[in-house]
Amino acid sequence: MEDKIPMSSVDIDARDIRAVTGVIRSGNLSFGKKNAEFESAMADYLGVKYAVAVSSGTAALHLIVKSLGIGKGMSVLVPSFTFVASVNALLYEGATPIFVDIDPRTMTLDPVDCLRKITPQTKAIMVVDTFGQPAHWDEIYSLAKKQGLKIIDDSCEALGAQYHGKKLGQLGDAAAFAFYPNKQMTTGEGGMVTTNNAELAALVRSYRNQGRDAMGQWLVHPRMGYNYRMDEMSAALGVSQLHKLDEMLAKRERVAQMYHEKLGKYDWLETPSIPSHIKMSWFVYVITLAEDLSREAVMEGLQKIGIPSRAYFSPVHQQAYIRSLPGMANLKLPVTDSLAKRTLALPFHTGMKKTQVHQVVSALVRVVEKLRNESRRKRAA
Ligand SMILES: *Cc1c(COP(=O)(O)O)cnc(C)c1O
Repeated sequence: MEDKIPMSSVDIDARDIRAVTGVIRSGNLSFGKKNAEFESAMADYLGVKYAVAVSSGTAALHLIVKSLGIGKGMSVLVPSFTFVASVNALLYEGATPIFVDIDPRTMTLDPVDCLRKITPQTKAIMVVDTFGQPAHWDEIYSLAKKQGLKIIDDSCEALGAQYHGKKLGQLGDAAAFAFYPNKQMTTGEGGMVTTNNAELAALVRSYRNQGRDAMGQWLVHPRMGYNYRMDEMSAALGVSQLHKLDEMLAKRERVAQMYHEKLGKYDWLETPSIPSHIKMSWFVYVITLAEDLSREAVMEGLQKIGIPSRAYFSPVHQQAYIRSLPGMANLKLPVTDSLAKRTLALPFHTGMKKTQVHQVVSALVRVVEKLRNESRRKRAA
């Protein structure tokens, strides 16, 4: 029996473990040297002036929205083909999400649909670098400039990705990263805000820490804030993981290449389409099944032979709590609605072996061939 293939898996080594146990022994468990070290290492890695460590990617997004002053009576363009946190960060502040459709090739925001949906209330664009693929930044930039919109980059799936040779995190007014265990690197729970704007960074720091000011006293709170701090164990793990991030990204790239090579020859799926001016930071490996295949049947078939898979993404505008908001019940996003029924994330992680990729692909081929034979037989009967 071969080992069960997991959907995702963390890459934790002895050095990571030493980093965390070292903090626990030191007794300084919150908001100390390791936070500062992680922040400056991340700022260096990404080429940004300011990096602020927080408790999650969702907290990072919320603090950016809050610090940009986005709230009631304002709207923000956002894809529906994303993780719910991109949209919830807007709802927390009472802002209205305006769902925009995506480019079917890259699965990122469609700039033409963005332009179409701007209203006088629109204050910002929430860009999502879906599955580790940078969005159409040139088009989004010129649109935002012409229309006077702020840009928030939800780069929670794209740490280390590049657009025309520039790392994400420098693009837009501020960017959010996440370190949940299924991401490219992990701190357990954790996130980071990056920006080149000093004032914005200072506000994020204050809101993260109960509204305290940088030099302020422990019980002086100029504004209402949150406890979105990162603990020192997480920060130490972050430093250690960041150290080997490029190595992990290269391993993930190789796994993606293996999938590409094995899957490229089949006509019942599309593999990810990667333009030459971008560098992926592979978060997950997502294929798009042909329209005549039932994704649910494929997933069930895979599950029966012990291969996990996920229906990434389930569009946000189709979630019950969003549909109950004014004007959302009948919202149609043709590309999102069609793609979201057919996309399938395959098992994918840094340490995945060639034999495991082979096992997943041959299972997928078997399942699809069986489904196709069954439907052929049905049609003949
Ligand atoms: C993971 C993720 C987040 C949030 O991350 P958490 O750390 O789990 O809060 C936000 N947006 C996107 C697109 C993500 O994939």
